[in-house]
This record gives sequence, C-alpha cells and structure tokens, in this order.
Amino acid sequence: MSRAEHGISRQQISPNCLKVLYALNAAGFQAFIVGGGVRDLLLGLTPKDFDIATDATPEQIRAVFRNSRIIGRRFRIVHVHFGREILEVSTFRAVTGDNVEIVEERVSRHDTHLDSVHSASGMILRDNVYGNIEADVLRRDFTANALYYTVRNFEVYDYVNGITDVDLRCLRMIGDPEQRYREDPVRVLRAIRLAAKLNFTIEAATEAPLRPCARLLESVSAARLFDEFMKLFFSGHGEKTFLMLQKYGVFSVLFPGAGAALSKDDGHYQRLLLSAFVSTDARINDDKSVTPAFLLAVILWPALQMQMRTNQTAGTPPAMAMNDAAQMILSHQLERISIPRRFSMPMREIWDMQLKLPNRRGKRAELMLGNKRFRAAYDFLLLREDAGENLDGLGQWWTQYQTANPELQAQLQSHLDSDEPHAKPRRRRVKSRNPKPTTPIIGAD
Ligand code: ATP
Ligand code: MG
Repeated sequence: MSRAEHGISRQQISPNCLKVLYALNAAGFQAFIVGGGVRDLLLGLTPKDFDIATDATPEQIRAVFRNSRIIGRRFRIVHVHFGREILEVSTFRAVTGDNVEIVEERVSRHDTHLDSVHSASGMILRDNVYGNIEADVLRRDFTANALYYTVRNFEVYDYVNGITDVDLRCLRMIGDPEQRYREDPVRVLRAIRLAAKLNFTIEAATEAPLRPCARLLESVSAARLFDEFMKLFFSGHGEKTFLMLQKYGVFSVLFPGAGAALSKDDGHYQRLLLSAFVSTDARINDDKSVTPAFLLAVILWPALQMQMRTNQTAGTPPAMAMNDAAQMILSHQLERISIPRRFSMPMREIWDMQLKLPNRRGKRAELMLGNKRFRAAYDFLLLREDAGENLDGLGQWWTQYQTANPELQAQLQSHLDSDEPHAKPRRRRVKSRNPKPTTPIIGAD
C-alpha cells in the first residue's frame, strides 16, 4: 500500500527510528518498521515504541551501529541505544516448517538440525532460524501485527490482509490459531491484551481456542509471565483486560488462588478487584505513579482472607494467621508468576498494615502516618470499604486524621477512646506532660 493510501507520515515516527532505517538501507540492507508500531500509526495512535525488522544478521546490525548491543533471551536481537530510547532491531526470522525458505545462516547451538525446536506440546523452545520477509510475516501473531513500513518507497507491505483487519478492528491469528497458541501460549495473553487495549474484536476462529488453550500458560516460565502481567495491567486498560481474562478462563490460570477465592465470592471481592483496576487505569491515564505491589496486594487479598480465616478458626491469633497465610499465598503464586521481592515485600507490608490501621490509640496513629507504606495501606483500606466491607468508618477517620491539625487529631483520638467500650481510661495528664504541641498523645496505651 502506497503512502497516499495509508497516510503514514515520517513526522509520526521517532527520529531515531528513522535514523536506524536509513542507516540500514545505506549499508545495503532491507529495514522495516514492523508490528505494533505500524498498526498504531494506521490507527492514528501514537506507538509506544518502534520495532524494526531487517535482513541483516545481528552481527551485521551490530557493525552498522556503534551504540548497539546484541541481546537475547529467547532469540537474539539487537538493541540500538539513543540515550533513553532503545530501538529493537531483529533479523527476519522463519518459523520452521516445509513452507519456509531459510535464506540465512543458522545459528546452531547444540547438535540440532534446526534451531527452532518444538517441545512435545508443540511449544517453540528455541527460535533462531533466519528467513526473508515472507517468512518473517508467518511467525508473527496477528495479521494487524504483520505489517511492514519502509522508508525506501514509503510503502506498507501487507502479505496477510492486515490492513483490512486494522480497518475492521479485528484480531485475526495468522495460520492455525490453536497451533499458534500451542507454539507460544503467551499469544493467548496477547490476544486478550491487544483486544482490550485497541478495542478490537477477536475474530471467531482466533477466539474459539482461547479458553481451551488457557491452561497451556502453565508451561510458560514464571519470569516471562511476570513481564506479561505488567503489560496486561499497567497499560491503562486493566479493567477490561481483567474482565476478558476472566471470560476466557485465563485469570485463574495466572492467579490460581485468587481465581478459586473469586469463584466462591458473593460479588464482594470481584468489586474490590474491579475498583482497583479502575483506579489503576485512571492513575495511568493521568500519568500518576502506580505500583505493582498495590495491585498484587488487591489481587491476592481474597485468597489471603480466606486462608487467614482458616488459620484463625484453627486458633491462630490474627497477626500470626496473617503472616502464615501471606507466606503460603505468596509462595503458591510464585510458582506461576515470579514477583520480584521489591514488589512482594511492600505488598506484604500493605497487608500487615490492614491489621494495624484499626489500632489508632496513643502514639500509634501518628507513627503509622510516618510509615512509608501508609499511603498505599490507606488507599487499600478505602478500596475495601468501597467494595462494601463495613469497617466502622475507619477510612473516614484516617482521611480526617491525616489532614487535621494537632488539636483536631487529639479530638479524633479522644472520640476514639470514648467510643470504644473497652478503651482504657483516658490519661489526660500524659498530654500535659508532653512539651511538644505537635505530638498530641492522649491515652498512651
Ligand atoms: P504493543 O503495542 O503492546 O507494543 P506489539 O504488537 O507491538 O504491541 P510487541 O511485544 O512490541 O507487541 O511485539 C512486536 C511485534 O512482534 C508484534 O506486533 C508481533 O508482530 C511480534 N510478536 C511479539 N510477540 C509475539 C509472539 N508471542 N508470537 C508471535 N509474534 C509476536
Ligand atoms: Mg510494540
């Protein structure tokens, strides 16, 4: 499709991306923007990033750009660095099979004939067979993601009717959908994520195997699933993504404990999760900071609560019941998704603070305000109340207390003492002994 027809202009493309395309062309190679970048340009959206595909091998790409590095977990690609912008350049790859012409060298490791090796379930384990552009098209997931834009003649190359599907706003798997999900079950997540994000429908044959293939995600590495978890819930469309994950039975594969708890739910936990996704989406769309620790705390909360109840029924005191349950829920979850400690630690602190927030007497309230997790724990508390949990106005109390001057804070605490039937007698003298007006201590218990 020509420039006049597709209407993509170079102004919409990052200058560094253009530099890479021109430099590869100048060195005698083909170079294309491919994937989400072209798709988003056609949709009139600003692409998140630009991926580049070329017939140059990683070594040849490396030779063109000093500022580049060959990297690769699943396959070898080249990162070209321009300050903070990193462009991903990958060599045309082929899916293995009789229909694929292999034109480039094979990067042979071990003694296998082909570098793309399938496991017994049909999953691609290694994938480093180079191909030409026609072959590269076939290893991509959806037709809308298999469009190639070149600055040689400003054409968009479309071998699979991807442009039509972009116009139809439709995700259509290239090849046999079920086989493609088996090859790489992450495509199940990608179908859901992209449909939610782009507001695309999933074409019937592409949709049908989603539910039956959901369990295949169990064989994907926990590290890769963490990366996907981040993309699923931190792109501003978490609510819709969550509902779709549930619709196709995928949520309970990613979060088995949470899935089980939600299935026994009367609607309360569903509301809790939904409002967390809604507020996370709103924050992302307002460019406010978000942390996976908070969202994970919410997602795993229903399972935590159920386990905690079991522990308490067995006679374990609350703090210990919480601690034991937290350990158990987290270790189960880690089998599926590897949550880095920098997120799981604050997640547990947010949970711990839910037990502490009701104990506001004496110095506790003030100390809690200074806790670095206070904000997240307080937000979490409000979310629980929003979802219908009756916490006796605890959220409102903390809302007032935070912004109150010391006098009002003292008042809030004194109400607390008089409201509570078992509160210890107020010891006003403690206050008069305290020389600092900023630390209102009433009833230091
Ligand atoms: P986003 O807008 O979220 O970046 P994207 O489609 O660009 O969406 P990327 O993960 O950036 O997604 O991948 C770039 C391209 O690589 C895709 O458009 C697709 O062509 C191809 N691709 C990525 N992951 C897979 C996969 N698991 N199977 C097949 N092709 C894939
Ligand atoms: Mg992309």
